[in-house]
Amino acid sequence: MPRRILLATPRGYCAGVDRAVKTVEYALQTYGAPIYVRKQIVHNVYVVQRLETLGAVFVDTTEEVPPGATLIFSAHGIAPAVREEAATFRLRTIDATCPLVTKVHKEAARFAAEGYDILLIGHEGHEEVVGTMGEAPQHIHLVDGTDVAASIQVHDPNKVAWLAQTTLSVDETLATVTKLRERFPMLTDPPSDDICYATQNRQTAVKEIAARAQLVIVVGSANSSNSVRLVEVAREHGTAAAYLVDHANEIDESWLLEVSTIGVTSGASVPEELVQGVLVHLAKYGFEEVEDITPVTEHMIFSLPRELRHDLRNATHAHPATSE
Ligand code: SF4
Repeated sequence: MPRRILLATPRGYCAGVDRAVKTVEYALQTYGAPIYVRKQIVHNVYVVQRLETLGAVFVDTTEEVPPGATLIFSAHGIAPAVREEAATFRLRTIDATCPLVTKVHKEAARFAAEGYDILLIGHEGHEEVVGTMGEAPQHIHLVDGTDVAASIQVHDPNKVAWLAQTTLSVDETLATVTKLRERFPMLTDPPSDDICYATQNRQTAVKEIAARAQLVIVVGSANSSNSVRLVEVAREHGTAAAYLVDHANEIDESWLLEVSTIGVTSGASVPEELVQGVLVHLAKYGFEEVEDITPVTEHMIFSLPRELRHDLRNATHAHPATSE
């Protein structure tokens, strides 16, 4: 049986993750270790472990950070109260919140200022959702699943808007919005897509490979929302099985029995070397032919946080590179 791999593109790092990881790396170079990071900078266990070896210290709360130290806020965003708390502890802060998460925060703040009830579609307890809800806790209602739509109470059914976590399933979110609109016909849409370009593109690509593969392997961590969504989307679009693995060594040989075509992709927080490790591993089982499937191309880049750019420029001026 000829065996081959369909490799999805785009996959792996998005612009927001790339920016957040570089923020920690450059902060370590500029200020020296330790650099404190509130929560996992991105939801990938290998990225976090590598940054720890370079001198990053991951904490759950601002209180764990010594006064005067440098603290980076993760790509998932924070509630305004966290920023205020960091200021009272006299911390130097660098905000690595993805600009596309910040966009949702601003939408929430604006709708709240205009007196809307906001229905935030997202997963309870996810750091991004916690941060967004912190922008306007009195105005935001979490919608975690279509069932919730029936029970939500709002101040004025004619003044309701919906927003979404950036890493949800596009199709599921639209289904939830349809339910919400049945209940609130005057429901106002966000000014632009909240589900980010990277989430949408990775789901488009996984749909293509899932339709042509008997098995889909998604590389990503279990707490990565967009990675888990890729597994779900793959299962809904034709493949017989789809699994999430952090590393090639988690692939179970039994998954490969009777399989001739495997689709491979990775979540937005996954370094490419982990995907390459999966390809090397699968080649040992005869999956040597790799076909690239690229339904969408990406060119998005985000600049580093302003506060870091400023200090990087000063450091470069103080220690100019010399040439011989
Ligand atoms: Fe930003 Fe989207 Fe990447 Fe999240 S998945 S960091 S919102 S680009």
